[in-house]
Amino acid sequence: MPLRSTLHSQRSVLLTLVILLGSGFLATSLLSYFSSRDAIRDSIVNTELPLTSDTVYSEIQKDLVRPVLISSMMARDTFVRDWVVAGEKDPQQMTRYLKEVMDHYGAYTSFFISNSSLTYYQAKGVLKKINSNEPRDVWYYRVRDMAEPYEINVDPDLANKDNLTFFINYKVFDYNDNFIGATGVGLTVDAVIKLIDRYQQRYQRSVYFVDTFGRLVLTGASGGPQGAKIGQPLRELPNLKDLQRKLPKPQSGNYQYDALGDAHFLNVRYIPELNWYLFVDKRENGALTDVRQSLYINLTICLVVMLVVLYLLNRVLRRFQVRLEAQATLDSLTGLPNRRGFNYLALRAIQDARRDQTPLSAMLLDLDHFKRLNDTHGHLAGDEVLSGFADDIRRCLRETDIICRWGGEEFIILLKGTNNAGARRVAEKIRLLAEQHTYVFSGTALQVTVSLGLTELSAADTLQSLIARADQALYSAKQSGRNRVCTEMAVAT
Ligand code: GH3
Ligand code: MG
Ligand code: MG
Repeated sequence: MPLRSTLHSQRSVLLTLVILLGSGFLATSLLSYFSSRDAIRDSIVNTELPLTSDTVYSEIQKDLVRPVLISSMMARDTFVRDWVVAGEKDPQQMTRYLKEVMDHYGAYTSFFISNSSLTYYQAKGVLKKINSNEPRDVWYYRVRDMAEPYEINVDPDLANKDNLTFFINYKVFDYNDNFIGATGVGLTVDAVIKLIDRYQQRYQRSVYFVDTFGRLVLTGASGGPQGAKIGQPLRELPNLKDLQRKLPKPQSGNYQYDALGDAHFLNVRYIPELNWYLFVDKRENGALTDVRQSLYINLTICLVVMLVVLYLLNRVLRRFQVRLEAQATLDSLTGLPNRRGFNYLALRAIQDARRDQTPLSAMLLDLDHFKRLNDTHGHLAGDEVLSGFADDIRRCLRETDIICRWGGEEFIILLKGTNNAGARRVAEKIRLLAEQHTYVFSGTALQVTVSLGLTELSAADTLQSLIARADQALYSAKQSGRNRVCTEMAVAT
């Protein structure tokens, strides 16, 4: 096979292997990555988020729904209504009542505001008169005018060092359905916030509450999604545009949206007791860090294995190629370079001689009547003589000289740094050695002589013209009786 096509097929073997190994590794790595990712997504959407939502909901029920029930009982309490209808005579009766509620139910605060006297009663006594011009009292007028029987409001508690407090504000009516005031309990949101924080930190998910208008009403200590503040409508947050598009109004369900280049999973659940929506949100990236890391490790291992395989294969192929190349430029019978090897060496030798301005001689050798030897003793005997003769020539030459089996029983030699006269001495030595050497094959003694044609490199020569002149000299040697050396001089230009 020609060398170039050997090289080409080597490359295509390597390339095919790279493609096969690479696509195999890539396919298995990606397949396992995608299936793990789908499993994780599935578990986030169908298990993790709903489970968090359930847990937060049951805690909320414990912490918030109970106070709503207590406040509702206060609003329906006949003592409260009778006491107001009777003209709020003894404030102590009311404060005792409020203290009893507070202590018994473990509330943080309890209150009653009378609509006729605008007095704010609480467990410790009369707190103050409320005033429609006081911003802190605005809530009361809102409650008075609202259609619903109660509201849940998160506000700083004036009576309790302004701690953030959940107020359940219930409307109180007399027996003729006239509005007579507002009552209820307050409780700190610490417990709920702690719960939310625990979920946010331990499971890297955001937990927050949104009212029916889409405003953030409650979240953990570290703040709402994308830096949202309590009371802020989510639609105002530029990073939640995608969520806004998919969920213009809060509604229960599972959603997926993008924020800051990350995919998010969101579970929304309506909590009828609070008339709020519970949002549980998880960033996909955080959840996929582990699988993505194992994908990268997988791919790195694949790459390393592939590189090692390629390196080893390349080394084996290289060695194979070097051997092939050596075989392609050497003659198998004599071990001498063949014409392919010779051409390369000869051109370099001519270049060197021209550059160094040293002489160079060419010598063409042809065994005499070799056909006859073959015919008489057989082809194998001929082979034996050929390889023996090649050894003889080697012995007469220097390391630097170039020798080649030119074809059949012909050889060519380039003698570096040697002019015609020097070459003639070497040629004679070879001729004599061949003449005197008795080769032996299967016990038969074989004699052979050689004719030699000599010439020296001239300024106008190419490799072809040099060899052609040596051939002419050889022809002369044959013509003039064989077993001799003839020289052909270059025509001076
Ligand atoms: P001349 O003196 O004119 O050179 O006569 P010759 O018989 O040597 O010349 P010719 O070119 O007619 O014959 C060369 C012979 O060398 C013919 C061929 O069979 C033989 N020969 C060529 N290569 C090999 C080889 O590798 N092994 C053997 N045994 N013989 C070979
Ligand atoms: Mg010949
Ligand atoms: Mg011959």
